[in-house]
Amino acid sequence: MLPKYKRILLKLSGEALIGESKNGVDPFDPRVIEQYANDIKTVTDLGVQVAIVIGGGNIYRGMNEAESGIERAHGDYMGMLATMINGMAMQAMLEKIGVYTRLQSAIKMEQIAEPYIRRKAMRHLEKGRVVIFGGGTGNPYFTTDTAGSLRAIEMKADVILKGTRVDGIYTADPEKDPTATRYDNITFQECISKNLKVMDMTAFTLCMENKLPIIVFDMNKPGNLLQVVEGKGVGTLVS
Ligand code: UDP
Repeated sequence: MLPKYKRILLKLSGEALIGESKNGVDPFDPRVIEQYANDIKTVTDLGVQVAIVIGGGNIYRGMNEAESGIERAHGDYMGMLATMINGMAMQAMLEKIGVYTRLQSAIKMEQIAEPYIRRKAMRHLEKGRVVIFGGGTGNPYFTTDTAGSLRAIEMKADVILKGTRVDGIYTADPEKDPTATRYDNITFQECISKNLKVMDMTAFTLCMENKLPIIVFDMNKPGNLLQVVEGKGVGTLVS
């Protein structure tokens, strides 16, 4: 089956990497990263070009100045560094199973990653390398969802795939309300009018204004990424 999407940007949450690892001791569960790597390999083997933006919430979130006593912007930079650790872990696992990768950082750290250069990243994708974008947008007061939307637009990706722990967008929070039902398709406008949280507003608006479709799906279910890429109706499509 021919993939529906030729170039995707996969947004992975840092928090999902915790898996079954003991939170506070290990920031990630290698089994989760391994499963992600295998799923990514399956779609690159089909010729799909894959860019990845990875979060850092399993290691550090800079948002809460009142609680941490750390100034917001300073903490945000710490959060951006956290995304690099996850990016390196993802890179190691992908290369281990034979997927060529490049890690690019929005914050210069030349010993471990290329600096973010848009045209270079595009070239890597054309050559079939998985490009991992670390360091978020490189700016405090943003999130990795915004970094994901931004890079997806810059890379001219067909779609941004937001991998989460839930299998799409629901009428209400399915973890709290058992009567909640899932949308297969929804428009940007409906998300706004129904006050559904898909991404933070900055990230969401970027996608809407640039007509970049979003698919929210459960990345922790093996094989789901392939189904999404083949357009088999997994998750919720926002367009
Ligand atoms: N961050 C930032 N600018 C960015 C991306 C991330 O300041 O462009 C910081 C922010 O503090 C954020 C943290 O990095 O809380 C980790 O990213 P995020 O919370 O988006 O990760 P996720 O929720 O996906 O695990």
